[in-house]
Amino acid sequence: MIYMDNAATTPTASVVVDEMLKYFTIIYGNPSSKYEFSNRSKIAINNSRKIIAETINASPDEIYFTSGGTESDNWALNAILSLNPLKNHIITSVIEHPAILRTAENLMKKGVNVTFINVDENGIIKIKELKKAITDKTALISIMYANNEIGTIQPIEEISNIALENGIPFHTDAVQAYTQLPIDVKALNIGLMSASAHKFYGPKGIGFLYCDKNINISPLIFGGGQEKGLRSGTENVPAIVGMATASKICSHNMLNSTNYVKRLRDYFIKRILTEIPFSRINGDKLNRLPGNINVSFQFVNSKELLAILDINNICASAGSACSSSKKSSSHVLLAIGLDEELANSSIRFSISKNNTKEEIDYCMNILKRAIYDLRNSSMEYSYLKNF
Ligand code: PLP
Repeated sequence: MIYMDNAATTPTASVVVDEMLKYFTIIYGNPSSKYEFSNRSKIAINNSRKIIAETINASPDEIYFTSGGTESDNWALNAILSLNPLKNHIITSVIEHPAILRTAENLMKKGVNVTFINVDENGIIKIKELKKAITDKTALISIMYANNEIGTIQPIEEISNIALENGIPFHTDAVQAYTQLPIDVKALNIGLMSASAHKFYGPKGIGFLYCDKNINISPLIFGGGQEKGLRSGTENVPAIVGMATASKICSHNMLNSTNYVKRLRDYFIKRILTEIPFSRINGDKLNRLPGNINVSFQFVNSKELLAILDINNICASAGSACSSSKKSSSHVLLAIGLDEELANSSIRFSISKNNTKEEIDYCMNILKRAIYDLRNSSMEYSYLKNF
């Protein structure tokens, strides 16, 4: 199998699994119990918090464990909005992940005003629109660090400075960016940040929300008082340890790994653009996640193409995995100006350090043949060819 869908999820690294195992069967004490044995679980949680905090220049008490990116995003928006009823406006963008968009829409039903900022043809948010949208009622600006579909990286420092100048907390969904790009939350003035372990070789169902200690947030889950009383429930110790292990390894190897992945990505893009006519790369050419290749093949239905890739044991995706069960075109591709037809001709490869040049060469052979066949059965393409 050739796995090129790492933006959807990554395999859990075997060192991560090894590290987790003992917290299932040997060090299994409830961290809230008061005897020495359970203290070992508590120490493991504290160490994990410290490891993760160090990777983004935060302090350990600013890291809250959650069940993943979706929960962190939901929490960030709801927590800020519920603090002050006079501040009932948030600003986000049209290309956010559904974890933000659906949460924002739900807040609208409760009377919150939401401004969705548009993006340019590369997927960069319109800064002028952002500045104009700010009012004295704005409680939060939430803009994703890097987009999961087209890989575009936002000018985070510029955005967070605008938030800072206006005294508004800034949240960023860094689910795709964390461990792919260096992030210093203090230097970048990031107030809140979401991340998810299964995107960086950690287990699924665990993530974290970073929240600057000067920002108050309301509790998410009530109960026994874990996570400083803000997110109660017995901690998932193996998953927390697994996430910290993955986070440490990925952050440590970031430069080597991203340089390798970028080279592969650029090689793949070059081959696609030179060897497959009527193809275009979506997203920003430079400010782009290392492993992202979002490409439109005109006159090709992406679902049919993905099925052929699947038969040939290649995993890729149309848009994000989370939204692929829906029939509608990608909201991100429409937002950057593609029409429905071109949006439905687009697929995303997200490559990783585990991919090789040989895999890309194999994939190119399959792609070229599949696209040739699919286009020959397309009326529109035949017409264009004859014309
Ligand atoms: N935000 C972004 C940008 C994502 O790409 C994803 C997952 O694809 C999520 C949030 C949701 O994360 P999780 O799968 O951990 O709930």
